[in-house]
Amino acid sequence: MEKYVRPEIEVMSGYIPGEQPESGKIIKLNTNENPYRASEKVYEAIRQTAALGLSRYPDPLGKAVRAAVSEKFKIDPNSVLCGNGSDDLLTILTRTFVGSGELLRLPYPTYILYRSLAEIQGAKSEIVPFNTDWTLPDTFFAVAPKLRLVFLPNPNSPSGTIIPKSRILEIAENLPCPLVVDEAYADFAEEHCIDLVEKCDKIIVCRTLSKSYALAGLRFGYLVAAPKLVEQMLKVKDSYNCDSLAIAAAAVAIGDDGWLMGNRTKILATRTRLTEQMRRLGFDVPTSHANFTWNTRKDIALKPVYEFLKNSGILVRYMNYPDWGEGLRISVGTEEQINQCLHFIEQFLLNKFYENRNN
Ligand SMILES: *Cc1c(COP(=O)(O)O)cnc(C)c1O
Repeated sequence: MEKYVRPEIEVMSGYIPGEQPESGKIIKLNTNENPYRASEKVYEAIRQTAALGLSRYPDPLGKAVRAAVSEKFKIDPNSVLCGNGSDDLLTILTRTFVGSGELLRLPYPTYILYRSLAEIQGAKSEIVPFNTDWTLPDTFFAVAPKLRLVFLPNPNSPSGTIIPKSRILEIAENLPCPLVVDEAYADFAEEHCIDLVEKCDKIIVCRTLSKSYALAGLRFGYLVAAPKLVEQMLKVKDSYNCDSLAIAAAAVAIGDDGWLMGNRTKILATRTRLTEQMRRLGFDVPTSHANFTWNTRKDIALKPVYEFLKNSGILVRYMNYPDWGEGLRISVGTEEQINQCLHFIEQFLLNKFYENRNN
């Protein structure tokens, strides 16, 4: 039956999301979800909207969200585009800017979905590896034939590291095409690039409510771009890409800065402790600006650590990047979840130590 499928699709392996176990007992630290409950105002907005009935199509523009984002960042509502999760926005961006046979650039290692998007589009992707200290070389903004779009997650995943704003502006100004700054984790960092959109119309900033707003199950994201570009992207998106419940919930969530700041404070405190403790246990951990840490070490293999944790009921993300190496990405959970995780990692290392001594 495969003969009916486009060759571009048949050859691709497809994006594999992090495991989503059914059992509620698992401590889930593998997909950077927020461990806390979203703002109560969000649930109230969903109940109220549902009570009005769902027989009508939703607002195609998500005007309530546009207004909330416009108010929060003091920007033109017409520079905001709503998406069914930021993955939807990344798809819209790829379809708007990159044609078949054209080129999309991304750093490495990074969010693997970007590559799948290029493949679906029949486009090529070019990889520019990060320097070993997670800065970017100048080749990241080199001009290349048919280069149409550049993706840069900032903070990056899996490293949690950040490229400073001044460098982002320099990259965008030198590029011959738009630069998408994927700010899925920016609420956990010290700076963001939304105000750069007005300074440089090649900059497009993507946000999601999945991480910092504890709403991964809702599926909502938005991007900020020059209104002229948003106008074009509106032609590409599905007419009703966001549902009424999600639009109402997102507008209220974005308006609730008090909840966001309170949650951020808790996550950052736990992140600091997780980083310090993992370093104490002998891991190399770059300073994180996101809600996870990237843990590597050269003296032992890390797949067995991942497996030991999994057998102990704790799911973290094991990554092995060709030409780069392996690591464990651990999402910042509650204090108690991180205590459990640290406890079992320490247990693994102790077991290993006694094994070696007895041999
Ligand atoms: C989680 C994540 C997303 C996806 O967000 P959704 O809104 O849940 O689709 C996008 N980019 C990066 C870098 C992410 O880590």
